[in-house]
Amino acid sequence: KAEFEVVIVGGGSSGIATAASLHKREPSLRIAIVEPAAKHYYQPGWTMVGGGVFKASQTERDMASVMPDYVSWISQAATAFEPDKNEVVLEDGSRVGYIFLVVAAGLKLDWDGIEGLTDTLGRNGVTSNYRYDLAPYTWDLVQRTRSGRALFTQPPMPIKCAGAPQKAMYLSCSEWERRGCLKDMDVHFHNAGGVLFGVADYVPALMEYVERYGITLDLNERLTAVDGSAKTATFATESGTKTVDFDMIHVVPPQTAPDFIKASPLAGDGGWVDVDPATLRHTKFDNVFGLGDCTNTPNAKTAAAARKQAPIVAENLIAAILDKSLPAAYDGYGSCPLTVEHGKIVLAEFGYGGKLLPSFPEWMLDGRKPTRRAWTLKADILPKIYWEAMLKGREWLVKPGKLG
Ligand code: FAD
Repeated sequence: KAEFEVVIVGGGSSGIATAASLHKREPSLRIAIVEPAAKHYYQPGWTMVGGGVFKASQTERDMASVMPDYVSWISQAATAFEPDKNEVVLEDGSRVGYIFLVVAAGLKLDWDGIEGLTDTLGRNGVTSNYRYDLAPYTWDLVQRTRSGRALFTQPPMPIKCAGAPQKAMYLSCSEWERRGCLKDMDVHFHNAGGVLFGVADYVPALMEYVERYGITLDLNERLTAVDGSAKTATFATESGTKTVDFDMIHVVPPQTAPDFIKASPLAGDGGWVDVDPATLRHTKFDNVFGLGDCTNTPNAKTAAAARKQAPIVAENLIAAILDKSLPAAYDGYGSCPLTVEHGKIVLAEFGYGGKLLPSFPEWMLDGRKPTRRAWTLKADILPKIYWEAMLKGREWLVKPGKLG
């Protein structure tokens, strides 16, 4: 008999939220979370740290403080899945058995995928909001830079929070504009993709800011190397390669499925956990569910998506325990609050196929336009919702969608 009815791999945004949603529905479930990290991060706050709005410490809590007391915390990394045996292999070689498995291990930031990057991160004007310890350096650099060239890069999709590369850029420009030195800055957005943002409805508002800040869009250009001491960045372009000088560069690394998932029987195309996009149940193993950044569902990889997915997994997993058909369906909701200037946000909210899924009526908050209300939501309300509602299974903002 398995020691746990449910084993969740990963105690990040989606893992803790799923445990909370399961417990709320069925308090007697024996749940374990496999999670090696001592700290839990509110990553959506890192954009605000890089923009000088939040302190880094506001985005970090001890894992022990967010780990629910009804869960057995296995404080180790998972190294392999053996779904035929219903076992997860742990880093010390031991195994944990389950009846149901939830994979919520996030994604891998591939810093080494860019030549020279790891040697110079945090020095020589090279920064990234994608790491807790580096986001404050973004703000340092923005304050120190009064003239010169600033590069902002975006790797190929999929990445978590697809808007974050440009959010860093707009908040930097907003600060330079406030200080009156924007006219002395040469700002470039090097995007490996061919469009500014994947959902067309939000592009006009973003383009107004691109023009206002005098940003040059270098589309279809993928960062391949950074030389920190020479202060140069090299890009693969449609016609070959090009190397440019910079005074500061904000890098977003390429992102992949974690290696132990890629190498496992749970992986589908591209190495991501292969789940049904509506039920979030694994396509081959009926007692396995997946959610958050580690799956192959074509939604925006965001904490907002995880907030909607966790109750869906909880509903469906409990139905599966009772051998019933799965009642809940995920519509692909994800959200990306684009910080276009200090105090204003374009609130992108959309589901599968780029369908707009606004949380508010248009008269209250039109997500396609920059608004102060959306800024208040991001700066004051969403962090509280994260810590106090999402991680605690308080689902008043989330009604699991029904199938059919
Ligand atoms: P994570 O929260 O990353 O958690 C994964 C967990 O798995 C971690 O705790 C990790 O330690 C653990 N883990 C990893 N490997 C193993 C292993 N081998 N065994 C066991 N556990 C393991 N989202 C928004 O909604 N809005 C935003 O504005 C927003 N902005 C963002 C800005 C930035 C700069 C970044 C970096 C992200 C942003 N996001 C935003 C995205 C959001 O943070 C993620 O989508 C969300 O955290 C995904 O949750 P997750 O649980 O899948 O992954």
